[in-house]
Amino acid sequence: MEAIGIIPGAGQPHLVQRREPDVEAEDEIKIRIRRVGICGTDREEARGGRASPPEGQSDLVIGHEMFGEVVEVGTAVTRVRCGDYAVFTVRRPCGRCLPCALQRPDMCLTGDYRERGIKGLDGYQASFVVDREAYVVRVPPELEGLGVLCEPLSVAEKAINEAVRIQTARLPETESRPVWLYGRHCLVVGLGPIGLLAALILRLRGAVVYGLDVVDCDTVRPQWLHVIGGQYVDGRAVPPDKIDDAVGPVELIVEAAGVASLDFNLLDALDFNGLYVLTGIPNGDRPIDIPGARLMRQLVLRNQLMLGSVNAARDHFQMGVDDLVQAQARWSDHVLRLITHRHPHTDFPDALLHNPPGEIKAVLEWTTGTLHDAGSHDP
Ligand code: BGC
Repeated sequence: MEAIGIIPGAGQPHLVQRREPDVEAEDEIKIRIRRVGICGTDREEARGGRASPPEGQSDLVIGHEMFGEVVEVGTAVTRVRCGDYAVFTVRRPCGRCLPCALQRPDMCLTGDYRERGIKGLDGYQASFVVDREAYVVRVPPELEGLGVLCEPLSVAEKAINEAVRIQTARLPETESRPVWLYGRHCLVVGLGPIGLLAALILRLRGAVVYGLDVVDCDTVRPQWLHVIGGQYVDGRAVPPDKIDDAVGPVELIVEAAGVASLDFNLLDALDFNGLYVLTGIPNGDRPIDIPGARLMRQLVLRNQLMLGSVNAARDHFQMGVDDLVQAQARWSDHVLRLITHRHPHTDFPDALLHNPPGEIKAVLEWTTGTLHDAGSHDP
């Protein structure tokens, strides 16, 4: 079968031939890939950045944002059936630490976890994939068009959920407000797919959402945010230390920009007892100038919390599926407009190496025309 490979460290995306995988164990599931999203990590890999091949291989099949249709299941599988839509999670346990043993490889302690399409395991840009039931999440048929967003959404779900759970654990007042986010002022930094999906989660929970980016307000990302009820803040007009003057102090910042100099300076906008969760992974090692003493003073004197969050557990994927159902009911086709670019998978060099203005999420299409065509949004 066909797959899209890269040479870790060199990039060079190319078409590779792999043996079509079969269900070999009773808990395995085979999925025919329909489409796979492309994100910053894929593009970094395709340019020769962070990636490692499976042991004994020089190339790596990339792709970790998958969506497809179950075509075969092992005898013990109960979570999905043939014909269901489903996604697989990304990270696999190291086999040596407690979080991994408890199926939380997203919190792995050894760093020896593997990630499909990123670190040590072939990914999902292929005609078929097989993996274990422990890593599958069923996607209802009405989400045929949106299911490919489950992975980036799971990253945002985890980040927000961790922040809210920590907040509810440390603040007595939250006991009287079970839905902590309702009515809270939140700032999303960077209106890429993760940022916009974070905004979507926050709006579904009733938060007041501001979205910061550095593009014109009549372009696709601020416009998408506007439709779900978020307010755009143009970072070119409002410097990081003036955000609170413009919109008032915020109680939660969800960072999805990966721009270290900006991100640290945004601490200034955070309210007393505020939470700041970072998901961006910046490139490079260039030192940055920040008013360290002032920011640290503020962190301490205002009981603020800064938290990093990476990857996601199966439960966060499930939260994502549930939120997509709600989001579709509330904003119907608008959610689908996050997928701005659809390429046949054979157009992978262009899709992986270019990031056109106006793109929110690009996907590679692998198959069209299966059981669920009635609700399909294929081009
Ligand atoms: C993926 C995560 C992954 C991270 C680090 C991101 O692009 O969405 O699942 O853990 O990269 O490799």
